[in-house]
Amino acid sequence: MPNSMLAVRFYKPGELRAEQVPIPEPGPGELIVKSAVALTCGTDVKMYRRGHPLAKQPQIMGHEFAGTVTSVGTGVENFKVGMRVVSANSAPCGKCFYCLMHQPNLCEHLNESIIGFSWPGAYAEYVRIPERIIRQNTFEVPDGVALEEVASLEPLACVVHGWDLIHQIPGGIAVIIGGGPIGLLHAQLARLNGAKKVVLCDVVEDRLQEAPKVGVDVTINSAKEDLRGRILDLTEGRGADVVVEAVGRSETWESAPSLARKGGTVLLFGGCPTGTAVSFDAEKIHYGELHVQGAFHHTPVAVERSFRLIVSGQVAIRPLISHEMPLEKAREALELMGSGKALKIVLRPPN
Ligand SMILES: [Zn+2]
Ligand SMILES: [Zn+2]
Repeated sequence: MPNSMLAVRFYKPGELRAEQVPIPEPGPGELIVKSAVALTCGTDVKMYRRGHPLAKQPQIMGHEFAGTVTSVGTGVENFKVGMRVVSANSAPCGKCFYCLMHQPNLCEHLNESIIGFSWPGAYAEYVRIPERIIRQNTFEVPDGVALEEVASLEPLACVVHGWDLIHQIPGGIAVIIGGGPIGLLHAQLARLNGAKKVVLCDVVEDRLQEAPKVGVDVTINSAKEDLRGRILDLTEGRGADVVVEAVGRSETWESAPSLARKGGTVLLFGGCPTGTAVSFDAEKIHYGELHVQGAFHHTPVAVERSFRLIVSGQVAIRPLISHEMPLEKAREALELMGSGKALKIVLRPPN
């Protein structure tokens, strides 16, 4: 086996380098996985453009991937060389205040080993998986399930966790703001949670074209149409039962409550840049008794459920993938995704 591999490392905002680095060795409880696919993610685009508070520099980027086990650390019992596996990008410690409060997505020690940020990532031929992730958030991929689909485990887990925090809406109307990969996942979770009508809006016409493939009933181009007027028309003047913000901009955060009905839920899912302040109409939230809910990251329960949703085909991943490129083109891939002209891009390491 060679002792170096291709990896794409983040040096500073706007600077990525495809270069040779040593192939990692597994520590106790760890695995080395030969990555077959890595996916681009909106968070990677953000990190490439403006850096990330948790990212070491330089750091191998990438946190959505799947591949084949090539080396097993001491003490690992459930995984063997040759198995096809997928992992989430992190796992909680299980011992801190938040873990004991059953809020493991807020674990105080999450940041110690997040793949692609504080831990070397998946834009590489081989990925070393931390022990905590092997124990809690790694799965063998069944035959017949494509690795590029199951590699979306992490973003789906975040979306599933968001819906775990929402009041159930059997028969309700859900509005998703943002038609990127995350918005397309929220649309599917809305349906699985009992929405009778799913509405998706975006300002990019091309993105709205993908929406019917994931079961969206109504698309609205909010650059051309009066979004609030359309939502009120669709809901007998009441507003939506659930509104999900899946963009991460102050304007869309601020408009989300105005689309919800009295007693409805607003899930603020998209992360805004650090230091962003937003303002809301207090009357709408108080007298309208809105549930305004933030959501961050995922829990092991959400990760496992996401794995099952992908493997069983209940959530479609193909419509989220628009391009495929060799790994060394990661920079071009992130530029393309950031321009809004691509959804997720599959990056393939050399064989
Ligand atoms: Zn991601
Ligand atoms: Zn913890």
